[in-house]
Amino acid sequence: MQIDFANLKLQYQMYKEEIDEAIQAVLDKSNYIMGEEVTQLERALETFTGAKHAITCSSGTDALLLAMMALDIKPGDEIITTPFTFIATAETIAFLGAVPVFVDIDERTYNIDASKIEAAITEKTRAIMPVSLYGQPADIDAIQHLADQYNLKVVIDGAQSFGATYKGKTDSNLGDISTTSFFPAKPLGCFGDGGAVFTNDDTLAEKIRSLRVHGQSKRYHHQYIGMGGRMDTIQCAVVNVKLKHYKKDLALRQEVAERYHSNLSIQNSPLTLPSRKKEKTSAWAQYSIRINKQQATSRDELQLQLKKTGIPTAIHYPLALHLQECFQDLGYKEGDFPVAEMVSKSIISLPMNPYLTQDETTYISQKVLELAQ
Ligand SMILES: *Cc1c(COP(=O)(O)O)cnc(C)c1O
Repeated sequence: MQIDFANLKLQYQMYKEEIDEAIQAVLDKSNYIMGEEVTQLERALETFTGAKHAITCSSGTDALLLAMMALDIKPGDEIITTPFTFIATAETIAFLGAVPVFVDIDERTYNIDASKIEAAITEKTRAIMPVSLYGQPADIDAIQHLADQYNLKVVIDGAQSFGATYKGKTDSNLGDISTTSFFPAKPLGCFGDGGAVFTNDDTLAEKIRSLRVHGQSKRYHHQYIGMGGRMDTIQCAVVNVKLKHYKKDLALRQEVAERYHSNLSIQNSPLTLPSRKKEKTSAWAQYSIRINKQQATSRDELQLQLKKTGIPTAIHYPLALHLQECFQDLGYKEGDFPVAEMVSKSIISLPMNPYLTQDETTYISQKVLELAQ
């Protein structure tokens, strides 16, 4: 059996007619920049997430930049975040001259450990940036509580979690600003780069819309230093189609995760399975398991063996951010965040997409259990 990790090909085939038609309509109109499909998508995203404002932009990375620029994050400001995430989370903080201040993660959810945040707050702290890792929101109430207490902003990096909920609200509808990514392999992907910024604050929304188009207030009049951060009309047309089917996709991802969970839940398991907190739902961007330390088979060996049996896997992420070369100047060292370091050495993501069949998840689960022993 040969398994497809994200199966973007099948997803296109399923909605091919609708997607081709939507793209062709843009070509016929040639409204490539800020066409009506952009506005259509923004309204549809607002309806789906419950957020008052959805502003599309050029990528999940640029969404983070726009969010922090809107909050006036300045060189020297500190932003508290997790060391166990994709580089963009901390990179954009540093790109603006601000300082990413890392706090270790929770051993069960791999999200930032909210109980360790307070100790990292200083006079320079401006914001907390939790990441909804693998699709599951962080402990938002605890984080928001600290933010209120210390007058900090909350920016949620929801690049992996579109549609996930925390106490019944999507994580696009929480914090001061929330962002997402439409990178093709994310749960809701376009056919290139794209992203969105969400907020319930009218003033912030207006500023983000302006920053996205070179900080202009009206054509060729520029109120802020902004950027060229628009999402292409064609990409919006693609997401417009996919969003219509997204509730179903999310339910299918949930089903796949449940099948993995029941297949892999055995006594004396060599694996640690993803933990699901009951006040949260996950968009299941990834189904990531840990291989327990006492196993003879290492994580990298398991990955190699699985590949030979037709099962592709991925490591999200092999090196925690405080140990990355680009962040050497921050002065962190090995041992500073033991949980993030331990997880980065033992985590492995199994194939995850809405279309994995029961036979496929059974096959993958059997092989994983067999090879991880
Ligand atoms: C993918 C991702 C991003 C960046 O999104 P792009 O659209 O690729 O720029 C940011 N943060 C996290 C956690 C991500 O997974």
